[in-house]
Amino acid sequence: MTDIVIIGAGVAGMAAAEHLSAAGYSPRLVDKAARPGGRCATRRVAADRDADWFDYGAQYFTVRDDGFRALVDADLRAGRLVHWSPAIASAERVAGTWLLTPSPDDRERLIGPHGLNVWVRQRLQAAGLDVATERHVRRVVAEGKRWRVEYADGTAESADVVVCTPPAVQTAALLGPRAAGIDALAHPDAALAACHSVVVRAPALAERQAIFFKSGRLSWVADNTHKAGRGGEHHLWTLHADATFSEAEVETPTAELADLLVSEFAAATAQRADDMEIVRTHRWRYARPGGGAPDADDLCWTDTAAGLAIAGDWLAGGRVEGAWLSGREAARRLIAAYALD
Ligand SMILES: Cc1cc2nc3c(=O)[nH]c(=O)nc-3n(C[C@H](O)[C@H](O)[C@H](O)COP(=O)(O)OP(=O)(O)OC[C@H]3O[C@@H](n4cnc5c(N)ncnc54)[C@H](O)[C@@H]3O)c2cc1C
Repeated sequence: MTDIVIIGAGVAGMAAAEHLSAAGYSPRLVDKAARPGGRCATRRVAADRDADWFDYGAQYFTVRDDGFRALVDADLRAGRLVHWSPAIASAERVAGTWLLTPSPDDRERLIGPHGLNVWVRQRLQAAGLDVATERHVRRVVAEGKRWRVEYADGTAESADVVVCTPPAVQTAALLGPRAAGIDALAHPDAALAACHSVVVRAPALAERQAIFFKSGRLSWVADNTHKAGRGGEHHLWTLHADATFSEAEVETPTAELADLLVSEFAAATAQRADDMEIVRTHRWRYARPGGGAPDADDLCWTDTAAGLAIAGDWLAGGRVEGAWLSGREAARRLIAAYALD
């Protein structure tokens, strides 16, 4: 039986693992983080299971592909996903004044009832897929016809096939000299742009649960407490900085930028920044596709003869759905090539 290691247990790694597993393989998923999910990142404000939670990476996702639709419908039935229909505004600063107008964007939005990270973990569990967490891969090197996966703690394992799903820069680093011949990794730095993310406890807004920003330093803010279907005077808001601002300030710790971003949120919504309390700051070094992402039609990169695949949202136009399509396509190509030995 072909021996497969999947590096990264975000949505792309999950999709690859689910499809390989359904075809009879037993892939081993490893992730450097303390838990799976990658950029589907959720935290609770306290340890108890009923504590308020917030998504500080992906906020919701949309569906276009029929296969992904089938997964979404099954997860809606299973209660692993729910619809989220916020009242969304567009914010624009005109002549020094913020103007908020209702957004006509009422597309279908999917969220996890306990956050998107929980959705990924529930799917992995339902498929019986174990993830070895806190397993930081340092290098992937050819060893005869197999691959040697070396970990930062000095241990190693070998595999017939390796599927890499970290962001482009990290995948290029793992592959070292082998990355040089791979088109998809020609411009790894430009594949994904940064995003500074701040979560604040702030007053609920009567008629708005999310805002797209057309100007200024923010790109998006969303009310997590509304997502969770909870009430109360103060809600947990996620603020995401704009990609241009985030890239320009990529080396500045998010904590140093948080007051600026909170002030902008307060100004745009006619509130007082003093009424807002910062709960968490996070810099996503690789958040969403940048100008130099590879052609999204390819979905993934594979060299089935060598037993190497690369998947991830940055190869498939970004977003949760792109990550899933990329992981599924990598698995399909591997399954077709090895025809289940
Ligand atoms: C701020 C922000 C907002 C977003 N908003 C949305 C949104 O609203 N809607 C939407 O659809 N998408 C959104 N996205 C994008 C979405 O989160 C991603 O497209 C998707 O989660 C990417 O999945 P992935 O599996 O390709 O990569 P990742 O989720 O990045 O998974 C890669 C995994 O690899 C692991 N890893 C990396 N290096 C190593 C190593 N050396 N060893 C072991 N493991 C390693 C990481 O820990 C990670 O778990 C957003 C992303 C961010 C950051």
